[in-house]
Amino acid sequence: MDQWFGFEIPHLIDAAIPGFIPTQTPLAHKAGPSPAEKQFRFTMLKPHQFLLTKKACPVKRLIATICLLISFSSAFAAPPASSHEISERQAWIEQQLPSLVKTYQWLHTHPEVSFQEQETAKYIADQWQKSGFEVTTGVGGNGIVGIIENGPGPTVMLRCDLDALPVMEQTQLPYASDVKIELPGGATTGVMHACGHDIHMTNLVATARYLAEHRDQWSGTLMVIGQPAEERGAGAKAMLTDGLFKRFPKPDFALALHVSGDKPTGAVGVLPGYALANVDSVDIRMKGRGGHGSAPHTTIDPIVQAAQLVMALQTIVSREVKPIEPAVVTVGSIHGGTKHNIIGNECELQLTVRSYSEAVRQQVLSAIQRKAKAVAMSFDAPPPEINISEGTPSLRNDDDLTARLKQVFESTLGTDKVSVDEPSMGGEDFSRYGREGIPILMYRLGSVHQSRLDRFKALGVPAPSLHSSQYYPDVEPTLTTGVLTMTGAALDLLKKPSP
Ligand SMILES: [Zn+2]
Ligand SMILES: [Zn+2]
Repeated sequence: MDQWFGFEIPHLIDAAIPGFIPTQTPLAHKAGPSPAEKQFRFTMLKPHQFLLTKKACPVKRLIATICLLISFSSAFAAPPASSHEISERQAWIEQQLPSLVKTYQWLHTHPEVSFQEQETAKYIADQWQKSGFEVTTGVGGNGIVGIIENGPGPTVMLRCDLDALPVMEQTQLPYASDVKIELPGGATTGVMHACGHDIHMTNLVATARYLAEHRDQWSGTLMVIGQPAEERGAGAKAMLTDGLFKRFPKPDFALALHVSGDKPTGAVGVLPGYALANVDSVDIRMKGRGGHGSAPHTTIDPIVQAAQLVMALQTIVSREVKPIEPAVVTVGSIHGGTKHNIIGNECELQLTVRSYSEAVRQQVLSAIQRKAKAVAMSFDAPPPEINISEGTPSLRNDDDLTARLKQVFESTLGTDKVSVDEPSMGGEDFSRYGREGIPILMYRLGSVHQSRLDRFKALGVPAPSLHSSQYYPDVEPTLTTGVLTMTGAALDLLKKPSP
């Protein structure tokens, strides 16, 4: 895989978009910046920085100098150590980037699906071990835990997720994944880190390394975990069941990030309170009595029952749930019958059900059961089989922790780079650590360069979402912001008590 290093990568093509040519090359670690990089860095300058360049006229440069002096003098009002610390970390990250890009590309080219993350876990465990962590493997399947005890203070847990998705990559990146697996039915599919977990892992390799190398800057216990099977909503539960908070210290705070496919690099988003939903699956088998399609009066038609049920389900959210409470009932799959003129015995439906509060969750699940039974009863059909699989619980970011770390992010990146996100009905099993009574925060990390987002906007198409075969992050700026914010958050939570 190393053959990519040292080569200028031709302009990458966002394959989904005819005529789309991104301006940034994600790799460029050579003697100096390429012209594209210079242009990229130039466009990233803040207005006063731009005015100080040779491209600005002398009068404007004088004004900019005065502005800069004013901003320096106001900067002295803030604790000087903090800005010094930030620039020191920035320099450290820049120096680490070549090795981090290698780590990222290794992970990207070796994706493993949920429950099969053996090589990934081995790789991450090795990185943490090299940094000086005491590492335990095989926690809840392929889960790994790394610990550094560094004096008195709180325990902070930082989490990354290890698994990839059964998606055939279509990014045309030189380091695109060509890994394939066989699905249970015998068909073959590609495997891809389409959810950015490779960024999460690289970020935590770097964050762990920084904190291990700078133990003089903090006090307490640092716990890093690599969680398997996030995409199946099962890994957090498996690690907890295997004694994550019994065999290892129970953290006082837990932190994770997730890349965002529509937020620009350099920016992060936070949201106090509910951010992601309860995710449950419901399987319903409507039962009937099969027969000839020409003699419906001799049968009980399961397909007509299913059709009525699909419509009846639409009124749960619209007529039963309080309008200000978020909830979703989606029938994602319906299967029944074999041929035009046969009325079958059964019809199967698969639903995804989303909510935030436990009360609404129970209300919706019970309404689904009631409606399915009522439809069957109205047809004089046998009772339906209903199977509810409780998935991930909703994710609630701790209010105080979110407020505290939002300030850290703002002082690290600038207030304009930190936004308050909208809640989503997606799911994430990082929520389970919060359900153990630990204040948690999962924040979003911008991963697509603004120039690419602008191009998508100009073309009138959305940027590829996570889980898309065409999603890819702009690695260097994404990692820079990820490591800056996560090290900043950990240092704040593990602040040394003042002497
Ligand atoms: Zn995902
Ligand atoms: Zn994910």
